[in-house]
Formats: sequence, C-alpha cells, structure tokens
Amino acid sequence: MSNQRAVLISAGALIDGSGEPPLRPGAVLIEGDRIRSIGAHINAPEGVTRIDLPDGTITPGLIDCHVHLSDAGLADASVQDRDASGLRILRMAEHARRTLVAGFTTVRDVGGRDHLEFALRRAAMEGLVRTPRLILAGKIVSMTTAGASSWPGMYRQADGAREVVKAVREQVAAGADVIKIMATGAVLAPGHERPTSAQFTREELRAAVDTAHALGLRIAAHAHGIDGIRRAVEAGVDTIEHGTHLHEDAGVAKEIAGRGVFLVPTLKALAPIADPEGPGVPEDMRAKAQDRRSDRDRTFRVALELGVPIAMGTDAATPFNRHGENAEELELMVSLGMSPLAAIVAASGIAARALGRDDIGVLAPGTLADVVVWSGMPHEDIRALQRAPIAVFLGGERVV
Ligand SMILES: [Zn+2]
Repeated sequence: MSNQRAVLISAGALIDGSGEPPLRPGAVLIEGDRIRSIGAHINAPEGVTRIDLPDGTITPGLIDCHVHLSDAGLADASVQDRDASGLRILRMAEHARRTLVAGFTTVRDVGGRDHLEFALRRAAMEGLVRTPRLILAGKIVSMTTAGASSWPGMYRQADGAREVVKAVREQVAAGADVIKIMATGAVLAPGHERPTSAQFTREELRAAVDTAHALGLRIAAHAHGIDGIRRAVEAGVDTIEHGTHLHEDAGVAKEIAGRGVFLVPTLKALAPIADPEGPGVPEDMRAKAQDRRSDRDRTFRVALELGVPIAMGTDAATPFNRHGENAEELELMVSLGMSPLAAIVAASGIAARALGRDDIGVLAPGTLADVVVWSGMPHEDIRALQRAPIAVFLGGERVV
C-alpha cells in the first residue's frame, strides 16, 4: 500500500454502475483519487479511514447529461438576463454546489451564457468553489432563429456550412468539451418557433458533426420533431437530446439502438411546464409542453423496448426544474417502466459512455473515486436518491 490517503466504505449494498446486480453487502476501497477495489467484503489495510453504513447503499457519483448551470429554473428566466455577470456567475456556482451535494459528481452543461461557465470551471480548478466535474459545450450552435433572443448569450447563430464550422471551432477554442447543436426548434422559444420543425440543413449538420469529431469532441443534438431527429442521426451525432417524437419512426429508433446513439430524454423538463406549480409560465409555452408530454412518454417506452441506450439528463434550468433536484428524473424514468437499477445505470455507467468517459460512472479498480453513499436502498425505492446523501466523494475527496 502506498502512502496515499485511503478510505474504506462498507455499506448494506453496492451498485457499481455497470448494470450488474447490487452486491449485498458491498464495500469500496478508495486510495488517493482512485478506486482501489470493490467487493462484498474488503479487509481493511493498515491506517485506512473506515466508514461503516450498514443501512446505506454505495453508488458511483451520479451524472446528469443535460443541464444549464446558468439558469435557475425560474418560471421566466428573462428576468435575470440583465444582471451583472459577477452576480450571474455567483448564481452558477451555487447551482453547481447544490448539484454536487445532491450526489451528482459530473454534469454536462449543454448551453451556457456568455461563456461564463468556462470561468466557473477555472474557479473550481483554482479551488475557489466546489463544483461537479464540468463537461461544457459553451454556446449552442444554431441557425438564425427566434429562440436565440429568448436566452441572450446562450446561442451562437450560424447559417451555411462555412459559418457552422467556424461556430463549432469557436466553442472548442473557448474550452468546450462537447458541441451542442439545434436540429429542431425549441419548446421554450417564442410561439412561432416550432419544436417539430427541422432547423439545420443536412449539409449544415454534417459540417457541425465532422468539425466536432475531427477535433475529438462528441456532439449533442437538440431534437424534438422526427425530421430533425432523422437528419441528426444521418449526420452522425452522438446523443439526441429530448427526442420527443422519436416514437413516430421505429426505423430511426432501431437505427439509433444499433449504432449506439444515446437518447437523453429530459422527462423532467416538460412536466412542470405543462402543469406549473405556480403562475408565470407563458401560455403558449404551456400549451406546447402539454402537447409534447404524451409524445415524450411514448418515445421513452419505445426506446426502452428497442434497446436504445438511454442516458439520464434533466434539462435543469427550465421552469421549476431546479439544480439539486436532479434525481427526480430517475423517478419519472421508473414511472414509465424502467427498473430502478436500470435508471441508476442510466445516470452512471451509461451516462459516462454517452459522455465518452471510461474513468467515471462505474466503480471499478482504477476509475476516479466519485462515490456516493445513500441512506436506504435506491434499487428498491428510487426516491431514496431524492434524500440528501450521507457522503459524497469527488475524486477521492469527501465533499459531503
Ligand atoms: Zn437544454
């Protein structure tokens, strides 16, 4: 044993994130920033810190593949648009903190504002704030569209393949780890932008995909309508965000399953807009969300049936979809027929694959020690993940 600090956690159960059934009991040995070993029982090496939680369950740190840390989940985000950037980045830091203490150790931010998210990551690297691991897209690359005016600083509009190439390269130059493009209109955009309409042309989509892939980045496509989904899949995107109308073409769903394109369903984004808990959601937005919800549910069931890889994502930031309440998405997934264990894997091992990462999402010797201990048995009752975790480790460091 090296002289790196070591922690041995023993609990009633351990879910490794790979899809294997839980170990009962289970234990994980952390050494430095890595997992050293897992097993039903691990003999404590000398000098190890021991944590024994016989009623708890150990899981990998959870991963949310679709958030916007810039926005709070207000009914109408535009009320904060003109706030000073210093205030906005402090809010982002708080959103990131809430997410981390809720057991989410990695988030993919698929659309920030004014590139402030890169400054947040820098602040975390300098130890000024604590955040989950941040996989950042920078600005959303989109055709010229009404939606861009709804979220100032979030879109990079580009028309024609040449401009799209430049827009993608700008995000990479700013520090992006992933590219996000709009393949269809958005639900939350003004009334005349339709989520069912395809946006970028095939040529523009291919330009975006080829540019991202050539630079070693994965690419995520926002897509509700089936025409936009079809075009995005043909162009070679890695993840389909929302995928609302995918159920309309089983052929495309089968192709996605066969090619291993990930669906990020963001079930949590629509529910509170369709049935808001308070006033303030514009009526045209509410009508669009209600329309979409039955499609979204059907798509989730079709994807489950056809074996489409499903990676968990909340779209945290949309109205009443708050940072730190990310685990509610897993309850919605289970309500539509996914097993609790599969939902946990969608937010760990499969989510990591969707992000192209093999060093997180699974508890195995050598992976980064992002580990959470929950009270209760989330593989029996998924709502256990909505209670504050007992302990959260990020890269071997205990942060809760
Ligand atoms: Zn989003």
